[in-house]
Amino acid sequence: MSTLEAPSVAVREQSPVDGEPCALLKLGEVVLKGKNRELFEKRLADNVRAAVRPIAKVDVIRRHGVFIVRTKDAHVELVDRLVQRISDVMGIVWVHRAWRVGKDVESVERAALELMAGREGSFAVRSKRRDKRFPLTSTELDRQVGGRINDVYGNPVKLKNPDITVSIEIDRDEAFVFSGGVPGAGGLPVGMSGRGLVLMSGGIDSPVAAYRMMRRGLRVDYLHFSGMPFTGPESIYKAYALVRELDKYQGGSRLFVVPFGKAQQQIKSSGADRLAVIAQRRLMLRTGELLAHRMRGAALITGDALGQVSSQTLANITALDDAVEMPILRPLVGMDKTEIMDQARSIRTLSISELPDEDCCTMLAPRRAETRAKIDDLRQIEKRLDVNELAEQLVESIQEHRPVYGDS
Ligand code: ATP
Ligand code: MG
Repeated sequence: MSTLEAPSVAVREQSPVDGEPCALLKLGEVVLKGKNRELFEKRLADNVRAAVRPIAKVDVIRRHGVFIVRTKDAHVELVDRLVQRISDVMGIVWVHRAWRVGKDVESVERAALELMAGREGSFAVRSKRRDKRFPLTSTELDRQVGGRINDVYGNPVKLKNPDITVSIEIDRDEAFVFSGGVPGAGGLPVGMSGRGLVLMSGGIDSPVAAYRMMRRGLRVDYLHFSGMPFTGPESIYKAYALVRELDKYQGGSRLFVVPFGKAQQQIKSSGADRLAVIAQRRLMLRTGELLAHRMRGAALITGDALGQVSSQTLANITALDDAVEMPILRPLVGMDKTEIMDQARSIRTLSISELPDEDCCTMLAPRRAETRAKIDDLRQIEKRLDVNELAEQLVESIQEHRPVYGDS
């Protein structure tokens, strides 16, 4: 939540701020240089505009290391909604609701006073000049504005660990004054690293895997295998709800659903036995690879974590990699279950993942699953099954959904 508080009406009447509220964004990955930086900023500006489109039409103004997001008829509540929404856009480390005011000491003071109105505790003013032609140095400006706040409200100045920090940034055409802010999602703007396909089970891990790859700039689509027609549609509802929640990080998400029950039955009757689970995962990957090619995706993403369950041993992971040529990204491979659950909680997918459903995989699970799958044995089974043909058929049976964040 924003720590910004709306200034009290009484003070606003006494000292109207001659500026407008706007959102000030601090960009991440500042080490990026040259062409990459340009790409980063262009993509990010597009992503910000798209994310807030249901709320307001905005201008995104690019300055050195920061973005300014302005909208017509801006008011504090509207900008707070923008700030909240923008905090989910990948590539931003801080989002502030700031007063955008004239580039003179008096305007800056008025905005600072408004931000401090009715607030108790010690404070410090911290100024930064992106335009060095400003007549006061940062320290002089800190002192001047701090002195004024202290005169008017009596809050004590405390430079180390103050309760409240009032930040001032002097820019090319204007000044920004703000206090507090919302941490951004960090990472790289979605779309900067290409496109991938997430194998989305409805469990806890795959949504977290999707989040982590989006955070590294990958635009993702989702592929879910349901046990239909032998199970109910519950797992599809779950996958849908998960993708809708994750859509807040990129927008325009697609969920592809494959009715997988019959294929599973075929695997079962092929005598795969202890290898059934791995054989089925290989079939999922093959189907995923075919689909990814069609949509120009360049990677598959799964929620595998080394050793988490018996199917996720190093030998089994090797057997899975063998099924496809496309790289399989496993962003959770080195994470503990508790770490994954913490992350799932913070991205709000955990409670959805924990809803009951009939996972398609349970249908196949033999009493003892193979932990050291032999690739030759798997190839034998797949030959009997004619997996390439089977994967083609599965892709043809796909249904596409478009879960949109904020829809219910
Ligand atoms: P998750 O919590 O993501 O379900 P898990 O710990 O249950 O993971 P497995 O069931 O072995 O692990 O699945 C490992 C990975 O395989 C999943 O993270 C997911 O990427 C993929 N996967 C498993 N089942 C499905 C499915 N029904 N549809 C799509 N992908 C799946
Ligand atoms: Mg699972």
